[in-house]
Formats: sequence, C-alpha cells, structure tokens
Amino acid sequence: MFMEGKVSDTWCVDNAERLKALPPYLFAEIDRAKRQLEQAGVDVIDLGVGDPDLPTPAPVVKKLQETAEDPANHRYSFTEGLATLRRAIADWYQRRFNVTLDPDTEVLPLLGSKEGIAHLPLALVNPGEYVLVPDPCYPPYRSGTMLAGAQAASMPLTAENQFLPDFGGISQRVARQAALMFLNYPNNPTAAVATEACFQEAIQLAKDYQIIVAHDAAYSELAYDGCRPISFLQLPEAKEVGVEFHSVSKTYNMTGWRVGWVCGNARVIAALAQLKTHLDSGIFQPLQWAAIEALQGDQSGLQEALAIYQRRRDLLVEALNAAGWQVDKPKASIYVWAPVPGGESSMAFATRVLEQAHVVITPGRGFGEAGEGFVRMSLTVPTARLEAAAARLVKAL
Ligand SMILES: *Cc1c(COP(=O)(O)O)cnc(C)c1O
Repeated sequence: MFMEGKVSDTWCVDNAERLKALPPYLFAEIDRAKRQLEQAGVDVIDLGVGDPDLPTPAPVVKKLQETAEDPANHRYSFTEGLATLRRAIADWYQRRFNVTLDPDTEVLPLLGSKEGIAHLPLALVNPGEYVLVPDPCYPPYRSGTMLAGAQAASMPLTAENQFLPDFGGISQRVARQAALMFLNYPNNPTAAVATEACFQEAIQLAKDYQIIVAHDAAYSELAYDGCRPISFLQLPEAKEVGVEFHSVSKTYNMTGWRVGWVCGNARVIAALAQLKTHLDSGIFQPLQWAAIEALQGDQSGLQEALAIYQRRRDLLVEALNAAGWQVDKPKASIYVWAPVPGGESSMAFATRVLEQAHVVITPGRGFGEAGEGFVRMSLTVPTARLEAAAARLVKAL
C-alpha cells in the first residue's frame, strides 16, 4: 500500500524464494580472480566460455541487413514463427537425419534453445515431480526444473560408462514420479557422443514410466574424425515420447542471434507453445530470415570451422599428453573434458591454474556433483592463443 507517496526506510527488495533456491553461481570466484588479474595488467587466456570465436557466415549477416530494412518485418511476429522457417528446419532434419517432421505441428522456433529448455518444465512438470537431469550438465536443465517447483534427480555421467546415463541405476520410486528427462549428446561438458542403444534405453524407460524425453542436440554438427552424431528423433519410437532441442548457435557461429527450435512430439510442442504465448511475442523476423539463410545457404563455413576446431583440439590435447596429462581427444563438441591430475579438487586446480598459468579453465564441479574430478577447456579462442594457453598449462603442471 502506498502512504502519502513516501517510501519507508525499511523498504527493500527481497528475492522470491524460487530465485533464492537456484544453485549458486560456482564460477563467481574464478571470475573475480580473473578480473583482478586483468586489472593488474596480466594477460589472461580464457578457456572458460563455450562461445564460438569465428564470425557468422557473411550471407547470413547480409540477409539480416536486407530484411531489417523491410517494414513488413518490423511488427510483432507470431509465437509459432514464420512458416518458412519451420519448413526450413523440417527440411534440414530430413536432409541431415532422414527424420520427417510436420512443420506445422512438430517444429517450434525458440528465442535460442536455452529459452525453450528452461521453460519446458514449467509447461509439463507439476511441483514436486521429478525431472531426470544428467550430472554434470548444462545448467538450465536444473534451474528450469527448480523454477517450475519440481525436483531434479541426478543421472550421474561417469567415465566408466562413457558419460552415458546408467538408466538401470534410476530407482523405481524416482522413475514413477518423474515427468521429464533431459539428455544432451554430443554432451556439454563431457564431449561424449551418444549411442543408439543409449537412446533406445531412454525410450524404453520413458514408455515404462510415462516420462517425456527432451534431448538437446546443440552440438550435433560439431564432430571430428568422421564421427556423425545421431539425432534422438532417428530412433523409431522417439517422436512418441519426446522432443529434440537444436539451434543455429553452435553450428553457424550465431550464439548472439538467439534463434533455436524444438521439434518432435506434437503434444509436447503444443504445451510449450501455449506457455510461450504468455511469455514472448516471437522472434524478430529478420533473425528468422537469417536463420533460414544459415540452414539453406552455403554450408562451407561449417566445414572450415570444423577444420579449425579439430586443429585446436589436436594441438591442445597433444601438448597436454606430451606433458604427461592423460587427456582424451573429444570426438565432438568444442570442449576438452580432462581429469584433474593429482588429488586436488577441480575448484582448487582451476584456481591454481589461473594463478600460476593465467589460464581460465572451468572446474567440473560447477556442472554438478558428478563433474568433480574433471575440468573443461573450451576450444573457442583463436588458435595462436590456444597454443599459448597449452604452453602455459604444461609449465604449470
Ligand atoms: C550452447 C548450448 C546450447 C545452445 O543454446 P542457445 O540458446 O540455442 O544458444 C544448448 N545446449 C547446450 C548444452 C549448449 O551448450
């Protein structure tokens, strides 16, 4: 209640309990230490963020410029996105995965896939129900679950199991109360690639316990040495139980553009679309035209990017291996997931590397409890900088 326009001395902003309950930002300490070093004039190399350093293909930028000049593109767009974009996404799935999608009911554009991922539990999961979440994982699976008042149940990804979930280890009690399961392959942060058998097991569990599967395929196009990651939707019954998230972010160096999509099960997509009519008013149309250009235009930029990432991967892993740090070459993604050498915690090791080598690496613990014992290094810095980082890391070991 407002009294005589006066704000009381005790007036203060108190965050909602649901916001307070979100996990603490575990990289805050490292961020602070990095800023301190930089303010002191130290040259810090940041292998922390997974954000392509390469430019968006020129024809995509040009398409944005052209379409931004057309007043027809200046108004509210539709939540369901341009029909042409949905068709372009369906065509891309057909070409790439031989998966047939109905662009009207089985494809929904998103303001980046993160937006849809974080909102999905709000559309499908009741408070108190479980969401099965890989551990370690991309943080929005867990935070989206918590914002919906649901409970995250961890599926540990271990080296012994090639960083695939051990579905047999999920208790019946949890499975019965689970409404949704997130999966992500190629995986961030472990760089693991899924097998068909893994997806098949997920589908069986989903059918047995009525669980919706949400697979995140953000890195499906970033793979090396002839590896061709599969889509979850390639499995015969996948569309009956789930959806797949994807976006132009990693494939076309478009992380800042914010265009993604979800495709697959029409009921799941309708639920998310209904929620979204209350949250946003669609994607700026020039961005949609640009995404269409990315999906349908010249794909040579992707091949060039892959060659660059592969060269970076090889130089980093080979330098670390030569120094006695046993690190595997990832078959996909833009990350190297490495066991912490010695008995330190991942946080202590990352802190020491920052202080001694002036290189930012991400402690695995920040992605979940099961990420402890590992660190993540991103390949998204210019090759010469990565070479310098490798040399510094070797010296600090
Ligand atoms: C980068 C990334 C995405 C992409 O997010 P957008 O919102 O589409 O930019 C999705 N999932 C994972 C696991 C990622 O690392």
